[in-house]
Amino acid sequence: MTCENHSIEIKHINENTCFSRKIILIIGTIKDPCDHQVIEYSYNSSDIVKQSIFNGNFKILLRLTEDTTSTLKIKYCQSEVDVSLLHKSIDPVIYDVKPLYIVPKNHDGKFQCDDNAENYADIAAKKIDLMMELSQCVFSTKIIESEKEEWSFSLEKCEIFNSDLDVEDVRTMDQFELYDKIAAELIDKFGDEALKRRKFVGFMSCTRFLGLDPDEYYNYVNIKNKTQASPSLSTGFLALLGNGSFYALPNDLDEVIEAFQNKKIINVAKLLDDSNYRRTYGGCFATFLGSLIHEMGHIFDLGHTNSGLMGTDIDYVHRFFLCQYFTEIMPKRNISNCQQMIKDENVLSNRITKIKKNGIYMEKYHEQKNNDLTFFEPNCLITLMNHKWFSQNANEDEINFDEAERTVDSKNSLLVLVEIRESENKNSILRKFWDLRNDKINQFQLPNDTILENVTIFAMNGNGVTLRKHVNTK
Ligand SMILES: [Zn+2]
Ligand SMILES: [Zn+2]
Repeated sequence: MTCENHSIEIKHINENTCFSRKIILIIGTIKDPCDHQVIEYSYNSSDIVKQSIFNGNFKILLRLTEDTTSTLKIKYCQSEVDVSLLHKSIDPVIYDVKPLYIVPKNHDGKFQCDDNAENYADIAAKKIDLMMELSQCVFSTKIIESEKEEWSFSLEKCEIFNSDLDVEDVRTMDQFELYDKIAAELIDKFGDEALKRRKFVGFMSCTRFLGLDPDEYYNYVNIKNKTQASPSLSTGFLALLGNGSFYALPNDLDEVIEAFQNKKIINVAKLLDDSNYRRTYGGCFATFLGSLIHEMGHIFDLGHTNSGLMGTDIDYVHRFFLCQYFTEIMPKRNISNCQQMIKDENVLSNRITKIKKNGIYMEKYHEQKNNDLTFFEPNCLITLMNHKWFSQNANEDEINFDEAERTVDSKNSLLVLVEIRESENKNSILRKFWDLRNDKINQFQLPNDTILENVTIFAMNGNGVTLRKHVNTK
């Protein structure tokens, strides 16, 4: 090995890749590295964040310039490579995603944060835009890693939405009531028709954490009991979240890596700690972004899975962006905390987690060595790629389920996926799925051994049309 020919490899991106999103994470490897620990680069914009090489691996986070080819030159030791990155906006846009910062009456739009931090509604909107773009980057990168193709959705800028609800009323509502009221306001303002083509991700401006008292035990039940206006719910056209973690979020792309690495301890007398017991600003940012991706997954018709971003693995998103993994001790989550579409007064109604306590701390700890632990299970990726919001396919047709024949029928286009999900009171966790993309069929008969007792059948076709049917056959 000589220093003239280290080879620099970029994963998942080639000269034909065309991006419609702006934020890209370049993931690469130096084959046969020497003791050089830095890579140099030149790029036609300052929107780029580089990290040191770790074990021959590097990651570069950057923002593309709209509708242009950008060139990134990467130099390691004496080797050099040019990467062309083409951005092309989605055109025409039929379906899009619009983030909203929802400010109730008699609220100033400020979020809870450290005293010296910049804090007003426009800063919150800026953070939201960045979080949405980072989420988009995770969705698309996970699809490209698995399917070798780039798919993304059209993302609008965050708008400040002035709600007619009074802040004091909002803070006494449970998340289901709040969700219904906000959804009704959006329908009123935008109309039913528009909502067939637009999905909203709303962030309440008035989340309030009352602080733990010095003698109060630090656990999530106590934290949750002292948190107001902090929903974590999504259905069809709206995902609704709180802003209790905004203090831990960066404002700009160049602060993202540092913010994930921020080990500053959260003062739980004042600020909400939703970090799955890590109690750090960086942990809080990671959990927030993971939760956001999870809730957005629901508006893209994903159900729950046992693992991954739609399951228990929402706390590790920092590992996707960071080059050097560090291990953290945290408990495994219990999926039952996410009550998508469930209206049961008796269950915990918050994202903040109920923890399984039986010696499971170490399980995740051991998995953390070489893996980013940030993934979607395969059925989720099939749904995303074929989803109208990713394909901009406006063709309408129908999928039906014949209960007697146990067949799923797609009218005009081929079926791509059939799933059996547990009934909703079990949080619609995936039980089984069939990837039908290679079968080229319009009709699928469920195998005889498929038990259809209190389950939801979810199916999707190539036009991105979906069927969601509750079945309860003994
Ligand atoms: Zn060298
Ligand atoms: Zn969920």
